[in-house]
Amino acid sequence: MIIIMKNNFSEKDLNEINLRLNESGLKGQKIEGTEKTVIAVVGPINPEHRDEFSRMDGVASVVRISKPYKLSSRETNDQDTVVKLPFNVQVGDGNFVVMAGPCSIENHDQLFETAQAVKSAGAHVLRGGAFKPRSSPYSFRGLGKEGLQLLSQARSKYNMPVITEVLSVRDVELVAQYSDILQIGARNMQNFILLDEVGKTGKPVMLKRALAGSIEEWLLASEYILSQDNPNVILCERGIRTFEQATRNTLDLAAIALVKQLSHLPVISDPSHGTGLWNLVEPMSLASVAAGADGLMIEVHPNPEVALSDGPQSLKPDNFKKLMDVASKLSDAVGKPMASLPY
Ligand code: PEP
Ligand code: MN
Repeated sequence: MIIIMKNNFSEKDLNEINLRLNESGLKGQKIEGTEKTVIAVVGPINPEHRDEFSRMDGVASVVRISKPYKLSSRETNDQDTVVKLPFNVQVGDGNFVVMAGPCSIENHDQLFETAQAVKSAGAHVLRGGAFKPRSSPYSFRGLGKEGLQLLSQARSKYNMPVITEVLSVRDVELVAQYSDILQIGARNMQNFILLDEVGKTGKPVMLKRALAGSIEEWLLASEYILSQDNPNVILCERGIRTFEQATRNTLDLAAIALVKQLSHLPVISDPSHGTGLWNLVEPMSLASVAAGADGLMIEVHPNPEVALSDGPQSLKPDNFKKLMDVASKLSDAVGKPMASLPY
């Protein structure tokens, strides 16, 4: 439920409400909107609670949230979430943000060459995997800590925020030391203990949709992070499993448009994993812009033929530059111009 405060409520009113929420085993989160202040309440709520809180001082009304997900819902908060990153980059503020880089960090030169190329083409955030979730344990599983160190060197050299995946609770602290955004991969969308832990860091988290995750399950997963008092959640549509075999996954463009209506959280589209084919990345990037995405995540490799992971879906730097040029025209046309470059 949400408790909508009167315009003239006092701190004392808030304290009393919080006290009663605690006594009832409920948790309140204050959200200050442009017009009113509300308290989003989560926990085992019953109809008596609504009556009780609507009678308290300073309260204008109490409204039931009909959706199972609460903190992520526009019913609770209609103001778009803006996730602030270092180097003056923001996600979800009405400008378009591009995250790009290699699937896996393989070595110094591969990462730095890619970082240089994506930065000069206009990317805002550098991606690179150090802990890789691979279908086969015999595939390259990432450089681990050494990869994180390379990523943070590239961050300083190219002045861009970085994003990398955290695979397990064991590594949350380590990855949080090096990365500006913690990526939760598709395979971990419902690893609820991991979601709790990344939530507790307070750092921005990008939550990828699971291979077979429904939109409701995806938003409920975001709720685990949000309910740790961490509002810095970015969603990422990366394609779902369908019967179709011609593409690696089916990029769910309707999900992008729908989630923008259901939730105030920013939505990024990942057409690299969404299609698995580099020559579909540009058209599906443009389609994502049109569907209302707040940004893209694109895999780029200087030499995709020899990439240690996801070569077939990785763009060469010149194709990435081409994509940026056309995406920036389209993002202007839909009223969500490219964000200014990190500095
Ligand atoms: C990735 O971003 O490299 C990745 C493994 O993505 P996903 O979790 O969407 O498969
Ligand atoms: Mn990948």
